[in-house]
Amino acid sequence: MRYSFLSILANGLSGQKGWTPTWRDAAPKPGYDVIIVGGGGHGLATAYYLAKVHGIRNVAVIEKSVIGSGNAGRNTTIIRSNYLLPGNEPFYEWSMKLWEGLEQELNYNAMVSQRGILNLFHSDAQRDAYARRGNAMRLAGVDSKLMDKAGVRAMYPFLNFDNARFPIQGGLLQARAGTARHDAVVWGYARGADRLGVDIVQNCEVTGFLREGDAIVGVETSRGDIRAGKVAVAVAGSSSRVAAMAGLRLPMESHVLQAFVSEGLKPMVDGVITFGAGHFYISQSDKGGLVFGGDIDGYNSYAQRGNLPVIEDVCEGGMALMPRIGRLRLLRHWGGIMDMSMDGSPIIDRTPVPGLYLNAGWCYGGFKATPASGWCFAHLLATGAPHDTAGAFRLDRFRTGHLIDEKGVGAQPNLH
Ligand SMILES: Cc1cc2nc3c(=O)[nH]c(=O)nc-3n(C[C@H](O)[C@H](O)[C@H](O)COP(=O)(O)OP(=O)(O)OC[C@H]3O[C@@H](n4cnc5c(N)ncnc54)[C@H](O)[C@@H]3O)c2cc1C
Repeated sequence: MRYSFLSILANGLSGQKGWTPTWRDAAPKPGYDVIIVGGGGHGLATAYYLAKVHGIRNVAVIEKSVIGSGNAGRNTTIIRSNYLLPGNEPFYEWSMKLWEGLEQELNYNAMVSQRGILNLFHSDAQRDAYARRGNAMRLAGVDSKLMDKAGVRAMYPFLNFDNARFPIQGGLLQARAGTARHDAVVWGYARGADRLGVDIVQNCEVTGFLREGDAIVGVETSRGDIRAGKVAVAVAGSSSRVAAMAGLRLPMESHVLQAFVSEGLKPMVDGVITFGAGHFYISQSDKGGLVFGGDIDGYNSYAQRGNLPVIEDVCEGGMALMPRIGRLRLLRHWGGIMDMSMDGSPIIDRTPVPGLYLNAGWCYGGFKATPASGWCFAHLLATGAPHDTAGAFRLDRFRTGHLIDEKGVGAQPNLH
């Protein structure tokens, strides 16, 4: 059904009995043109754009658990396109443009809120780096504004400007950035794909690949074998494990990232703020909880839970930035598995195995990429060629040396 003011009114007057399920819980068919492994945001967005833009509707999304139970439902919901490098910037800006029209496109309230992101700087060198990034963004046609201390103080007077070790000197603002409701993004894409005929198969784990010679021609799953013309893998933190089933060793490590939500408060942080002297970032949800996070746990893991040292580190960052949160109570925290690539940038590419395509390496920034990732992966699957904005996200760049090292820290996945 299509959501509208009238449908809300009619259901409100009739005891909310007229709503239909948002998507079908499909059983797997024997075969599809395209199978997408992974029912996170990226897999579902890929299915949606395959059906919508390219008319390829004989598609299944195969999810081992329930859709959105991976990183799509665990992230801190920040969307932005404030990148420096030419390999990244056009892609993330394309994603930002898709976010800006997403709710109308999907007829679904994804709570896209362009409340702005402010990256604080605390030294002259950091200011210069942020000025360079802001200029690169402007050259790419993206909004950015370098703010001085007075400008930041006018926006967020409660920050600890005179912290003896990390005084705030200013910040780089992208006003069009913000947040989106992560679950709603998953559900919106699922509903959109389902309406176009895509099968969303939940509780169905891919356990291996069907092969004919070298080529992959389908998947083995906990609910039986399913054949496919093409198999597209979008499993985020499980990328190396799923690729290993096809005999591939990816340039990637899996690490835990934690996130935190406080008890509900009255509105106090109306944008996204990142601390530049440590790893800490914060925003406030519409329910009032402060949503914050920091660094990855720093060891390889496939467990979706984190450790105490990072909790301490994140809280120290928070206290250095805004001491007023000192008596706040933490409501809950959790972990997700990051597919950390060697240069911190993603891969949207065919693999050396015929019939197998890969969407991975999103590190801890893949939520904002969801629309463009789906768009570009669908483009690759449908046309065989990379999309213009994702041309640099090749799997072989680690062999050819065409790295996209946004942070400039080298082949250190835990540092990106
Ligand atoms: C704590 C945290 C905070 C984050 N904050 C941000 C942020 O603020 N902004 C941002 O841009 N990004 C953020 N991220 C990163 C972002 O969430 C991810 O990069 C992105 O969600 C990954 O894409 P996805 O949604 O498709 O992944 P997922 O939702 O993880 O989807 C992959 C799916 O594949 C399924 N799967 C795995 N193996 C199999 C199998 N064998 N068979 C079938 N299915 C399988 C999983 O169950 C999962 O549902 C954060 C991540 C975490 C954990």
